Amino acid sequence: MERWDTVGDGVIGVDVGATRLRVGFFSRDGHLLARAEARTPSQGGRGSVAKAVAELIESLAVEGGFAAVGVGTIGPLDVYTGRVVGTPNAGVRSFDLKEPLEERFGVPVYVVNDATAAAWGEFKGGAGVGKLNVVYVTLSTGVGVGAVVDGNLLIGKSGNAVEAGHIVINYRGVVCGCGGVGHWEAYAGGSAIPRLARAIALEESWDSETAERAVRGEIGTPEIFRLWRLGDPFAVRVINEVIEATAAGLANVINVFDPEVVAVGGSVALKNRDFLRKVIEVVPKYALLDVPPIVEASFGDDAVLYGAAWVAIDPPPTLLKYYLRAA
Ligand SMILES: [Zn+2]
Repeated sequence: MERWDTVGDGVIGVDVGATRLRVGFFSRDGHLLARAEARTPSQGGRGSVAKAVAELIESLAVEGGFAAVGVGTIGPLDVYTGRVVGTPNAGVRSFDLKEPLEERFGVPVYVVNDATAAAWGEFKGGAGVGKLNVVYVTLSTGVGVGAVVDGNLLIGKSGNAVEAGHIVINYRGVVCGCGGVGHWEAYAGGSAIPRLARAIALEESWDSETAERAVRGEIGTPEIFRLWRLGDPFAVRVINEVIEATAAGLANVINVFDPEVVAVGGSVALKNRDFLRKVIEVVPKYALLDVPPIVEASFGDDAVLYGAAWVAIDPPPTLLKYYLRAA
């Protein structure tokens, strides 16, 4: 670990989201010491996102420098080059992260998928400390999953392992934003719930103002949750579907990875804790294996930022295998 003596005492964590960039300077034991945020560039070339990240890092004016940079990013990723290739939801579809940041700062830069980073953060500094099998799930505009199995962070051949938001939970089901059929995210992603509501309203004969508004596309996810809480029958119908789907997705992940703990983050979960409690009650109905504790993500809205920092503090050996192969 001699790099700590030579190049600064902390690391930089970076969260590259579709709309927001966040960077943080962290101590080597994972404490956030300074942070900055900006909008993700909506246009520009392959270097535009790295340039914006570099400017944010420089805005922190870290004295003594830093030893490494960890990045958790929207995918899909090319793990060998640390490049995002054809991401569907951001203005700039393809951009470089690893190479330009390494050139700019002269320190190692580690790039993983966002939920993968968050899983590593839970494993090293959150709910998974002392455990070997940890799953992180984000219920946000989409559904993302990362997994540490037998102590190994799962990376996959392109860096996109555990795309569990797109596991099929109903092969006769609704179409996902990605074009696939019956994916978990199509039933539980924050941006998919209004589409799900519309599909239910069209398929079933509802005499309901809420259902009519859903058909006209006038109702967003926060309002559906609000009406659910008020007992609106159509909203209850929709959210019951989301609860079952989310429980099924979690059960699938539990059956596949046999985790000791599942940490759940993302705005849909964190803003609707009553919903998450209902989901947790239903998981055993779909799980074969014993259901482990399902807990709230340790770092809240900053799960990816903390996870990215932990990737820099203690780079996952499974990730380093890919970098050795690329070298
Ligand atoms: Zn999908």
